[in-house]
Amino acid sequence: RYIVGIETSCDETAAAIVKNGREIVSNVVASQINSHKRFGGVVPEIASRHHVEQMTIVLEEAFKQADMTWEQIDAVAVTEGPGLVGALLVGVNAAKALAFAKQKPLIGVHHIAGHIYANRFASEFEFPLLALIVSGGHTELVLMKEHGKYEMIGETRDDAAGEAYDKVARMLELPYPGGPQIDKLASKGEASIAFPRAWLGEDSYDFSFSGLKSSVINTIHNTTQRGEDINKEAIAASFQASVVDVLTTKTWKAAQVYHAKQVIVAGGVAANKGLRDALTAKFSGSGIPLLIPPLKLCTDNAAMIAAAGFVNFEQGKRSDWDLNANPSLPLK
Ligand code: ATP
Ligand code: MG
Ligand code: FE
Repeated sequence: RYIVGIETSCDETAAAIVKNGREIVSNVVASQINSHKRFGGVVPEIASRHHVEQMTIVLEEAFKQADMTWEQIDAVAVTEGPGLVGALLVGVNAAKALAFAKQKPLIGVHHIAGHIYANRFASEFEFPLLALIVSGGHTELVLMKEHGKYEMIGETRDDAAGEAYDKVARMLELPYPGGPQIDKLASKGEASIAFPRAWLGEDSYDFSFSGLKSSVINTIHNTTQRGEDINKEAIAASFQASVVDVLTTKTWKAAQVYHAKQVIVAGGVAANKGLRDALTAKFSGSGIPLLIPPLKLCTDNAAMIAAAGFVNFEQGKRSDWDLNANPSLPLK
């Protein structure tokens, strides 16, 4: 079975073709980072306009790289939410038009289900499976007992991990997107500043990063008030140590409590070297296999949407022609 995936939830326009939910045939991503950089973040209106310009180009490229035609395609999967509504609409409308014209089933996909299924290109899933989702808009621990079913066991009460990275990067006057910049600086510095860790109680799998963020602001403020230079490397390393410590500890605990047969990491922050190293160290020799996608599949792409869409397809789940973008679509 060949599924076409379409993703336009944020600032990458992406199209891909995936075979049987496990094999990438083509995977094309057009990033808009350069257009948003000078604003220090994603500007929704600019994002939508870029998606309109890029959508057909990216789709044609996906078919060209796959050396395939529409006759060989079994279904069209598209991100229906969550994300920026104007951005999502471009992908949803493109998918609807194509599915209708080519007479293929239409399948709406949850963006985070996509991030989770980015792991299935490397290994088949084993249930119960614990997924740590760390992206620009989400920080969640999700338990899966079967394909296509998601139970949220913990989530962030304020900022997402990626959001915290981007905000701290902005305070350190680093270019957008800040996550990779902080990651780089952190590897050059000592985690010498004791920033807080939000545990939120013994049995909680929830997260919070706003206190940490305030603590970083205060440190920068107090240092400059004293007329001293800020040590960006030390701040980045200490901030990252706090984030990684909380994420790793809670994931480890949940994996034990829920008897996870597999732990997977998903979302843009899964690209973080500090997090990858800490999780790998924690789980190595534990008997619980840890999966982290290759860097290219951590951030937004359409192969992951096609992979998640394949599961819906196999389960007979289809979307109607009134499929709409839903910026706050719940994962369930
Ligand atoms: P969501 O998936 O929640 O809708 P999104 O699609 O914007 O949000 P992703 O594309 O999954 O998010 O990830 C982007 C985020 O990942 C940004 O916040 C970015 O700073 C962060 N990020 C990317 N690489 C790294 C890294 N090496 N270290 C830390 N953060 C990173
Ligand atoms: Mg993005
Ligand atoms: Fe994403």
